[in-house]
Amino acid sequence: MLIREFISETNKNKMISDLLKYYKVGSVKVKQKSMKDHAHYNVDTGTLELSTRYKTIKNRQLEEFLITILHEIYHAMDAKKYGWKKFKEMYEYEMNLQIAKGKHQYKDNKYEINAENFGQKNWSKWKKRFKKEGLI
Ligand SMILES: [Zn+2]
Repeated sequence: MLIREFISETNKNKMISDLLKYYKVGSVKVKQKSMKDHAHYNVDTGTLELSTRYKTIKNRQLEEFLITILHEIYHAMDAKKYGWKKFKEMYEYEMNLQIAKGKHQYKDNKYEINAENFGQKNWSKWKKRFKKEGLI
């Protein structure tokens, strides 16, 4: 049995664009960027910034990769739902609220918690689907 160690860039990009379309945030642009975090949704520009460490994905990185993409998509969905300027205000308010409470601006931030739960809840379903389609 042949096990491919890497997922091609073409298949990776296909997975990302399928996810963006499915969650109705198909207008989000994707950009590879050298960065400390795995990914970031830039609400000002409507861009999903993806770490260059995900240029090619190893099979063992797949779970983490799918959770990361779904997490950022959730932010994009929030930005679409509220309007990006409003969402940015809401997000900053939440950050300051958590800081004022002596909590962590990200770890205790409800938008981050919701985005992470969304990723955790949905990644395996997508893994099955992409496997079935022969992308992974
Ligand atoms: Zn986040």
